Amino acid sequence: MQQEDRVIMSGFRDEDGEIEQSLRPKTLRGYIGQRAVKDSLNIYIEAARKRRDALDHMLLYGPPGLGKTTLACIVAAEMGQNIRITSGPAIERPGDLASILTNLSAGDVLFIDEIHRLSRSVEEVLYPAMEDYALDIMIGKGPSARAIRLDLPRFTLVGATTRAGLLSAPLRDRFGILFRLELYTTEELAQIVAHSAGVLRIDADPDGLLEVARRSRGTPRIVNRMLKRVRDYAQVRADGRITLRVAREALDMLAVDELGLDRVDRAMLMTMMQKFGGGPVGLDTLAATTGEDATTIEDVYEPYLLQLGFVMRTPRGRVCLPAAYEHLGMPLDTPAPGDEQLSLLDEPTHGGE
Ligand code: ADP
Repeated sequence: MQQEDRVIMSGFRDEDGEIEQSLRPKTLRGYIGQRAVKDSLNIYIEAARKRRDALDHMLLYGPPGLGKTTLACIVAAEMGQNIRITSGPAIERPGDLASILTNLSAGDVLFIDEIHRLSRSVEEVLYPAMEDYALDIMIGKGPSARAIRLDLPRFTLVGATTRAGLLSAPLRDRFGILFRLELYTTEELAQIVAHSAGVLRIDADPDGLLEVARRSRGTPRIVNRMLKRVRDYAQVRADGRITLRVAREALDMLAVDELGLDRVDRAMLMTMMQKFGGGPVGLDTLAATTGEDATTIEDVYEPYLLQLGFVMRTPRGRVCLPAAYEHLGMPLDTPAPGDEQLSLLDEPTHGGE
């Protein structure tokens, strides 16, 4: 994978977990943006605290890197409770979840990232735990087997996923609070990156930071990562200070354009325009022609292209909109190829174009 991909891939954890920790806001006040979510959450937290009860189970969904884990940690801190962090793929067997649940204390927050990846049998342990704070255990085998029910402390489950639709309906229905996190505005990202530059003691002009924010496709994790790469560039190719010029040069070098699009975005749009007359194009075809997997396209690349008004989803596939043609300097009437070319594209073994 090339350098520029790594900068964009917001799904990846930071190579330096400790730095990522230090950049995380610790309070709801310090959490920038997501106004509607914060306003509601403030009320729910205060109400739960007044009742001296655990907060209701909460599902957070939205593209990677938008602050779901951060928000879960903040909820625990604001409730004055501990948080236990795990993820769907890490909980392999029902017994793994049972042991996590029995080790919780009253009021604890259990955060399960990628909750849509829990297996069916693990999910079934979660249902009574969420609903009745109970754990059903089978003792013995065969005809003499019997179920016993253990009480669990009242805890708060915070689940995170990229799309709410990935969850099974019974699991989704057991969450009392559902929040969709939105991509951030450039101004919000500029605040985040200014704060991060302060924590990391990076010397930067506001203009330089604004440029980093502008090219970070609405995503806090990307803005923090870009900041570090631009800082490296400033140290080696300039006098260490991130100015507008330095930021532009560094981001150009990373092949991130002025709207934050990278090589994969551009390849995807060009494919749609040049080979499919702008679409509609199916997700799997896009995946095959760009070499990215369909989930990455849907979770990482597409949300930003949709927000920019560059693509639209239709029942028959993705369609490229005029703004995308303009951005890439392509004529709107780019002709669609003949059938011969299309059949080549449908057959990846022929190598496509
Ligand atoms: P997710 O769990 O959605 O993938 P994270 O919570 O891990 O995202 O956020 C990634 C990084 O972005 C965090 O380390 C944090 O520094 C930063 N971040 C996310 N949301 C915010 C926010 N609202 N304000 C400030 N920084 C944020």
